[in-house]
Parts: sequence; C-alpha cells; structure tokens
Amino acid sequence: MSQQRVTVDCPECGLTETFDGLGSARSFIEDHRTETGHEATWELPQLASGVERAGDEAGVCGSPDCTDTESPLYQGE
Ligand SMILES: [Zn+2]
Repeated sequence: MSQQRVTVDCPECGLTETFDGLGSARSFIEDHRTETGHEATWELPQLASGVERAGDEAGVCGSPDCTDTESPLYQGE
C-alpha cells in the first residue's frame, strides 16, 4: 500500500485540499508556495492509528529529495 491520504492545509488563505499520496501533496505545497508565498502544511490523518505505516513513510521522507525541503514541510513527520 504505497498511497496515503494526505490533507494539505494553508492557514494563510484557508485552503484545504486532500491528496492520495505524499508526492502529490508535496508538489501542491511547493506550487502553492511558488504562486502565493504561503507556507501550507500537510497532515497525515492515518498516522494516529498507523504508527507502523508512519515508519514506512519516514523512509520516503528520508530521501534526499525530501530532506532538503524547508522546515515547514517537515512538520508532517
Ligand atoms: Zn495559501
């Protein structure tokens, strides 16, 4: 199961979007930052009941492509 429901939230404009997968969410956050300068954040609603899966996702976030992101994105761990 490689896909995970991710909610992206932008407190600056109140935008909320849901994505099936971290990649889509990350792309959206980066696009939103580029377009508006807003720092949207993501949430992983399933984390509370899926700690083991969180470990799997941590592996994804350990990739160089992810670790070089700015700190606001990294709150999602
Ligand atoms: Zn925004």
